[in-house]
Amino acid sequence: MPFELKHVNVYLLRDGDGFTLIDTGLRTDESRQTLNQKLTALKVPVDRINRILITHIHPDHFGLAAELRDGSGAELVIHRLEVSLMEPRYARAEDLVHDVAAWLSKNGVPPAEAEFVKSASMAAREFVSVVEPDTLLEGAERLPIDSSEMEVVWTPGHSPGHCCLYWPARGVLFSGDHLLPKISPNIGLHPQSGADPLDDYIASLERIRRLQVESVLPAHGDPFRDHRARIAVIVRHHEERKAALVELARDGAKSGWQLAAGLFQGIMQRNVFQQRLALQETLAHCQSLAVEGRLRKQVSRELVTWRAA
Ligand SMILES: [Zn+2]
Ligand SMILES: [Zn+2]
Repeated sequence: MPFELKHVNVYLLRDGDGFTLIDTGLRTDESRQTLNQKLTALKVPVDRINRILITHIHPDHFGLAAELRDGSGAELVIHRLEVSLMEPRYARAEDLVHDVAAWLSKNGVPPAEAEFVKSASMAAREFVSVVEPDTLLEGAERLPIDSSEMEVVWTPGHSPGHCCLYWPARGVLFSGDHLLPKISPNIGLHPQSGADPLDDYIASLERIRRLQVESVLPAHGDPFRDHRARIAVIVRHHEERKAALVELARDGAKSGWQLAAGLFQGIMQRNVFQQRLALQETLAHCQSLAVEGRLRKQVSRELVTWRAA
C-alpha cells in the first residue's frame, strides 16, 4: 500500500469446493496484481471464491470488494453498520466534507488549518468503489465453513461495524484491525463514529479476551499468539493516554485541537491526515473521560471544550 502502513493481509480459506476470502486490499493496480498472482500460484480461479467477508469498510480492507464480487459472483458479507458509512464516505464525500468542516471548527481547529484538514481523507475515495453487499451481519452469526463454523464477533471501536471472525475448531481469530501485533488501531471520535468509540473498543476487546484463541491472524503484521497479553498492553496504553489528557486539561477548559497538540506533539507537525487522526483519537479519549466523570465536557454552538473535573 502507498501508505505508512505498507501491507494489509487478506486471507483465503478453503471452504468445501470453493473458497472464502477475508478482506480484499486496496483498489490499486499493485494490490490487484498481488492478489491475482497469489490466486494463480494457488491455482484458485477467482470464480471459485464463493464468499467475501469484510471486517470493515476502510479502503485497505474493502477497496477491491466491488470488482472481486463482480468477477466471482461471490456473496459479499459485511456488518450492517458499515453499510451506512459507505455512501457518504465514498460516493457523496462533498457533503461529508461540509459536516467535517463544521465539526473541526467546533473542536477548535483554526480556519486556515481546517481548510486543509477537512479534505484529508478525500484521497481515500480513489482506493474504493461503492457496492451493495449481499448479506448483512449484526454479530453472533454462525457461518458454515469447510464442515465447521466460524462465528462473527461484532467488535465496534475502530469502526462502528467492525467484525472479527472466530473459528473455534481451528483456534483461530481473524482480528481485522481490532487487535494488531505492533500498533494500536486508530480509535477516533468523528461525525461518522459511534458516540463513545473508545469505550466501545475496550468492551469489544473484552469480548475477544474471553475467547479460546491459539493464533490471531491480524489484518496488518504477522500472526501472533497470546491475545490476552496483547489486549492487556493495549488497554494499558489507552489508560495512560487518558491520564495524560487529564493532566493537560488541569489548567482550564481546552478544545480538542489544543489537547491533541499537547498529546501528540510530534505528529501535529506532520501531514494533515495525521493531524486529523490525532484530533479524532484525542476526542475519543476525552469522551470516555467525560463519560467516566474525569473530564467536564462543555458544548456551545461554537465550541466543544474539556477540563479536568
Ligand atoms: Zn481500519
Ligand atoms: Zn487496516
